[in-house]
Amino acid sequence: MPEHSLPNLRDMTLEEIEGFIAARGKEKYRARQIMKWLYWQGAASFDEMTDLAKDFRIALAGLARIGQPDVEAIQTSFDTTKKILFRLEDGLSIESVLIPGKNHWTICVSTQAGCRMGCRFCLTGQGGLKRSLRPSEITSQITVLQRALPEGPQIRNIVLMGMGEPLDNYDAVLKAIRIITSDYGLGFSNRKVTLSTCGLAPMIEKLGADICINLAISLNAAENEKRSELMPVNRKYPLKELLHACRNYPMPGRRMLTFEYILMAGVNDSARDAEKLVDLLKDLHCKLNLIAFNEYPGSAYKTPSQESVSAFQQILLKNHYTAILRASKGRDIFAACGQLNGEESHVSSTAPATPPSSAFDTENRRG
Ligand code: SF4
Repeated sequence: MPEHSLPNLRDMTLEEIEGFIAARGKEKYRARQIMKWLYWQGAASFDEMTDLAKDFRIALAGLARIGQPDVEAIQTSFDTTKKILFRLEDGLSIESVLIPGKNHWTICVSTQAGCRMGCRFCLTGQGGLKRSLRPSEITSQITVLQRALPEGPQIRNIVLMGMGEPLDNYDAVLKAIRIITSDYGLGFSNRKVTLSTCGLAPMIEKLGADICINLAISLNAAENEKRSELMPVNRKYPLKELLHACRNYPMPGRRMLTFEYILMAGVNDSARDAEKLVDLLKDLHCKLNLIAFNEYPGSAYKTPSQESVSAFQQILLKNHYTAILRASKGRDIFAACGQLNGEESHVSSTAPATPPSSAFDTENRRG
């Protein structure tokens, strides 16, 4: 069997590897040894797994593989944000972003090559969905970069917020999160993992029932008409339904839900928009991340003035919300929020100004 058609052990949880090797007559505990080699030692071949018998390693190499995507390019911003372009086995590309913090990195991970949600302000959505990523392609963005980072700050936070809608690739994303938070996997606390969604309400409820991680919702408007215009997903899951799912979501510990609000000049940045937002979220235990829109060549929306951003924030603060103005990092290399398109930034100037179609446009026309 050609190697690329063998199952990838990085697509499996501990329990699945146990089942895989048990079906081939090996003891279950070998699965824990394999997981440690993959996620603790960063092994790139079965040969490196020296506490497994040689004949078992040879047998494994004929049954499975452990390949990871290649890093094709790394761009570094003036603010030290890094954008990493990965090439997948089938030639598609995805991007991850390393965002600097105080003595640590936050990694923004992609879950799909492209996206079919069609948010009007997002460059990733312009090209539509190419395909969803496998669990190994999600976790490898972390493991490959953990290995590549020099001594010093390490990855401490993981946000599933890069290219794609994580809840539109639910099974693979859930499995990736299980590997990320497993003691035998990457060992991250569930409090260090955040999933950001555009608002697939039923899947939010499902996620809450399956696993406990932080949740962020890309909101961007407090009225259905405006939100549907910006985010076609709102036509299928309007605000009432979305907020109902949010209210039922079990956050880890006493943590707050995060609502992300991208401010676009003249679109959703007025005092009235802020007051609507205050009213909409009044009974939710939440905080708000405000992000000034990052323009890209051909974008239909504009960055708001500092004054309007500040006035918007003040209205939220006066109403006792935690409203943090997020500095856009990596703008010069098109690594900022909504700017990822799976290409090196020098070729990103071809984005069309016309709104893309989305998975929800057809449904809307039918409705
Ligand atoms: Fe997809 Fe997120 Fe972009 Fe919307 S904002 S099109 S969900 S990647």
